[in-house]
Amino acid sequence: MLGEGILKGLGETARNFAGSFVSAERLTTVQYPEERAPVIEDTRDFPFLVYDGSDWEAGLRCVACQICEKECPPKCIYIVKSTDKKPDYVGKPQIYPTRFDIDISVCMSCQICVEVCPFEAIKMDTQFELSTTDRFGGLLYDRKELARSNEYYHSIHPTEAAEVDARLAEEKAKAEAKAKAAAAAAAAKAAAGPAATAAPVAAKPATPDAPATAAVKPVDMETKG
Ligand code: SF4
Ligand code: SF4
Repeated sequence: MLGEGILKGLGETARNFAGSFVSAERLTTVQYPEERAPVIEDTRDFPFLVYDGSDWEAGLRCVACQICEKECPPKCIYIVKSTDKKPDYVGKPQIYPTRFDIDISVCMSCQICVEVCPFEAIKMDTQFELSTTDRFGGLLYDRKELARSNEYYHSIHPTEAAEVDARLAEEKAKAEAKAKAAAAAAAAKAAAGPAATAAPVAAKPATPDAPATAAVKPVDMETKG
């Protein structure tokens, strides 16, 4: 029926309006800023950088791969790579960002930086009270201002953060098992001695065109004598 959707919408509005006088669940507005509605888990506004441990600088997960910088649609991420390396969460030496800025005044909260990050290093915050009178510097956040602990990440997105932790722990266990197997193989090779480690010497080709494994032509003793 023509206009059925409009009538349904008006009916829902009327039901909520009348219901808000008798049911607290239907009273969805609050007297902000004195009152605040709880922030739901899937809320997102601007990105932050996750760090593990208590030292934000040493614990940053970001390895300055710059994928987020390239994929950000409005190009509001700016990264400078380090020239040295530090261990990442699995102990692998990695470069890190000496500079990581996000211009929050340009960010459109699309979350693409989060989706493309292979290191679970950047996530979306739920903080929205960021207004400032400083139009430029006040909304350009550097890596220190962007850094938030993994505990903070758990406090705002508990379900997602638990899944990420489980995934990282699995990757770490796999990397440790691989390193252990490589160390055991190296130790076994060393214990077997130098004879076991010497590579077999291939026969040299007689001419550049001849194959290395070609049979040596028997010498004609009669013509020699
Ligand atoms: S949320 Fe979107 S716009 Fe904002 S920094 Fe990430 S990719 Fe860029
Ligand atoms: S936040 Fe992620 S995608 Fe962006 S540079 Fe760091 S590791 Fe790479």
